[in-house]
Amino acid sequence: MKPISTLLVANRGEIARRIFRTCRAEGIRTVAVFTQPDRGLPFVQEADLAICIGEGPASDSYLDTDKILEAAAQSNADAVHPGYGFLSENAGFAERVVAAGLKWVGPSPHAIDTMGDKTRARELAQKHQVPVVPGFSDSTDPAVLASKAPQIGFPLLIKASAGGGGRGMRRVDAMEEVPEAIASASREALSAFGNGTVFLEKFIEHPRHIEVQVIADESGTILHLGERECSIQRRHQKIIEESPAPGMTESFRAELGAAAVSVARAVQYVGAGTVEFIVDANDQFYFLEMNTRLQVEHPVTECVTGFDLVALQLAIAEGGALPFTQEEVQFNGHAIEARIYAENPANDYAPGTGPLLRCRWPTGTGIRVDAGYETHNEISPFYDSMIAKVIAHGSTRAQATRRLLGALTRTWVVGPPTNLPLLKDILSTDRWDSGVLETGFLSLEGLPKPVPLNMERGVLAATCLGWWLRRKHAPWHQDIPAGFRVHGADWQLDEWQSFDQTAQARWRQVGERLEIALSVGEGDTTTHTVRHLCADGDRLILELDGLQVQWDTLWDRCERRPSATLEDGDRVFVHLGDAESLVALVPRMPLPQSGADEPGMLTAATPGTVVQLLVSVGDRVTSGQPLLILEAMKMEQRIYAPSDGVVESIPVAVGETVSAGDRLLRLDCEESDT
Ligand code: ADP
Ligand code: ADP
Ligand code: MG
Repeated sequence: MKPISTLLVANRGEIARRIFRTCRAEGIRTVAVFTQPDRGLPFVQEADLAICIGEGPASDSYLDTDKILEAAAQSNADAVHPGYGFLSENAGFAERVVAAGLKWVGPSPHAIDTMGDKTRARELAQKHQVPVVPGFSDSTDPAVLASKAPQIGFPLLIKASAGGGGRGMRRVDAMEEVPEAIASASREALSAFGNGTVFLEKFIEHPRHIEVQVIADESGTILHLGERECSIQRRHQKIIEESPAPGMTESFRAELGAAAVSVARAVQYVGAGTVEFIVDANDQFYFLEMNTRLQVEHPVTECVTGFDLVALQLAIAEGGALPFTQEEVQFNGHAIEARIYAENPANDYAPGTGPLLRCRWPTGTGIRVDAGYETHNEISPFYDSMIAKVIAHGSTRAQATRRLLGALTRTWVVGPPTNLPLLKDILSTDRWDSGVLETGFLSLEGLPKPVPLNMERGVLAATCLGWWLRRKHAPWHQDIPAGFRVHGADWQLDEWQSFDQTAQARWRQVGERLEIALSVGEGDTTTHTVRHLCADGDRLILELDGLQVQWDTLWDRCERRPSATLEDGDRVFVHLGDAESLVALVPRMPLPQSGADEPGMLTAATPGTVVQLLVSVGDRVTSGQPLLILEAMKMEQRIYAPSDGVVESIPVAVGETVSAGDRLLRLDCEESDT
């Protein structure tokens, strides 16, 4: 058969990049298809040719067979790789690709079709003496299904035949819940997969999810590449996977491997695929389903076997024979993958979107990163919110765990919140270390409560130092509001805010160091000495009270608009290992613009709402004292006295909305011109 010369990847993000990497190594020309919101992503730039196929929605782009085939024709591609998700398990698409005279990097449409239907796959497995979870799938009649529930016993699962991604599943604990659960699972399956067929399965308690990677060529050789344990799941979705499965024995692996190969043989499988099993507390395993594509977690198999699964897929699609035997497949060490998603722990892990102000991926011995995004890319709402996968390989599970934890600690993602803290928490538990896993891991451990980003004093000291350095080196130095000193021994006062906490920092420069007096909330004032040692990109190396520390700091806003004056909403993201903070500078009120007409009148710099008056008419105030609080863009903004004086009038009331330039408070400034 002719070798592949140009490969189109009908996918996006990290998997498109992953496939291109192998193509580059093999000298195969690459074609990306992309949508408008994905225009700036690395996978588009890394392809030899990239074709825009849509505005955004997947249904009109990555799921649009016509557009993809058109792009293939336009780019002279001779093969199509579907990645995972999207059209990868769509038999109709595979058929169209083949009919267009292109090589399809995947199994036959027949295999995809058969395995895409969980009930048919179950029957096939059963026919080949592979155990399936006790259940019932012989009828689609809800009444018949319901009548079989008592025989299976409770708890049981109602599952969609066409289901995927953990959707279309309902656990039922008692007979009276059955009819309604069948109806609702069926409705959900119909709307999500266009097919409302459901079936019953016994709910296996305390199960593990263990799957087997299989690989098969056209001559009928079918081998397995060992197993992956994917029991760490959230809402039936894998988040941490590893190979080998903890506690796996040679004999159990051989048994599972043989079962997986039987299932693959039953559909004359060709290419890379995964047979998923559920394993109960007594190590009894049951066939769950077969995924007829490359799997998200394939890198852990690559690490321990040393094979490039994409290279094998391409060679098989070219008609090549597998270049090794089952006996030659060796398993070396242990690999663990963690999936980093943009999702908000504070909002029940709802997917997140938005610009990534910084992505710093870890490097190091045994560390691999498959990332879909880099700094300044944007996560759009149209697709999956997975940002990257970090994979660690070591000689033992303990070493791989430690390497992965270290790598995740060095990972820095600034922008939408991520599940990084969750991943690190999981890998730090005794339960993880014990290797005794089950799919209910997270409910047993309890999801970590979102830790409020704190105003740790070290963070504040680093923030003050960084702020001072920025002021010192800023090109807009001359625009800094009056009363603002960079040099000299005068005390400066800044206020910082982190969510609902505020802190005051009084600081001054003494020789080459800063002296800082910090008070956080109602807490005591503490004093610190900070010395700047050096800066390396985002990284600030400083000596804090005699201790050398390194912080990653990212100045948002002022970084993106370096020529602007100091503005409302300047924020700094600070990162040191496990500590991560977001601190915002509470802006000082600029001096009144209309000073000549109305001396002492303070006006609003931005539109906002008056939330609190801190002084009354007639009060004597001192320079720097907060006078009133405005809320603008969900941020509290304090208005400070620009000088000593007496409050003469307050033309606003609490609750009032003001526009930029509106009068807020008039101060009789007695000795204001110092
Ligand atoms: P597995 O492959 O281990 O079964 P999943 O079921 O989570 O893991 O992977 C398939 C899912 O990945 C799809 O259902 C889809 O939501 C998501 N997906 C598809 N394409 C991409 C992509 N390019 N990047 C990230 N996620 C994707
Ligand atoms: P999907 O197509 O969504 O991946 P699967 O059948 O592979 O569906 O199941 C996904 C996950 O749901 C499994 O990894 C497991 O956590 C859980 N699950 C599925 N079937 C059962 C069962 N019979 N008993 C207990 N848990 C199950
Ligand atoms: Mg599955």
